[in-house]
Amino acid sequence: MPPFKPEEFLILIVDDISKNIQLLIEILDSLGYATTFAIGGKQALERVKIVKPDLILLDLMMPEINGIEVCRIIKSEEETADIPILFLTASNEKDHLLQAFEEGAVDYVTKPFKTSELLARVKTHLELKKTQNELKLAYKKMQKLANTDPLTGIANRRYLLDFAQKEFQRILRYHNNLSLLMIDIDHFKRINDTYGHDNGDKAIKNIVFSIESCIRKIDLLGRFGGEEFVVILPETPMKGALEVAERIRALIASQSLILEEDTVTLTVSIGIVSYTSEDKTIGQMIQRADRSLYQAKTGGRNRIVAL
Ligand code: GH3
Ligand code: MG
Ligand code: MG
Repeated sequence: MPPFKPEEFLILIVDDISKNIQLLIEILDSLGYATTFAIGGKQALERVKIVKPDLILLDLMMPEINGIEVCRIIKSEEETADIPILFLTASNEKDHLLQAFEEGAVDYVTKPFKTSELLARVKTHLELKKTQNELKLAYKKMQKLANTDPLTGIANRRYLLDFAQKEFQRILRYHNNLSLLMIDIDHFKRINDTYGHDNGDKAIKNIVFSIESCIRKIDLLGRFGGEEFVVILPETPMKGALEVAERIRALIASQSLILEEDTVTLTVSIGIVSYTSEDKTIGQMIQRADRSLYQAKTGGRNRIVAL
């Protein structure tokens, strides 16, 4: 783990007595922590949103809004819920601590506190929070890798099928529309054979870029196989799907790519399906799209077939 640097952390101190705040600021400042403060609960709730502190030292007993209430509100809001809260309590307030923990506090320090103890607890919780953040980030990264096709950066087959399955469940429930495009590059083998695999890869990336420019944010483009792609079009009836498919087909056919000084134009064939009550599984829809695509191929390529 990299060395702990207090100056990387901002601590919000909340108390209704400014003398208490002053003392805490002096202690934390001397170690290099960045500090900010709020006098009372109301100000604390405003401040926390603006400064997004890494940790909060929160006085338990305050007039108007007390610490427990402040803690409850901070923990109930998504953007502040993860901030660790350490309570500062007088020894005669210990009865309230159970409640504080129930509301999401991570720890407490009894007033009058020992400086070394306060600092130790602050440091522990900051380190813990940092580790949690790093784990969350690493997990997100890993998930993204597991769902992404490395060549093109779009969804891989696994994620695509997962997404399609979820959309299919949704349509069974809400009876809206769902369409699917199966897109295959025409005579792609020739590109590899003539210009080599690297140029083939380049051509695939180009096609992906073109398809992406024709679809909406809520649509999902995924790589189904080598040079075969699927677009899931939620809430789209056949008419809309035909329009999207034609846009994709026409755009790709109108573009050219320079490969080893040759100007190369690629085309795609597209099979389209829209959900009908006869589709009992997403697999059946995909099979129909495959049959449509096959017809587009046998019908001469660079065309769209909807079955
Ligand atoms: P059709 O019009 O019938 O689709 O003809 P085609 O040549 O595109 O079809 P075929 O399925 O025979 O060939 C697909 C080719 O795509 C073969 C394979 O080497 C190539 N391919 C698959 N994945 C990749 C890839 O990631 N990179 C490259 N460069 N080529 C790939
Ligand atoms: Mg092909
Ligand atoms: Mg193919």
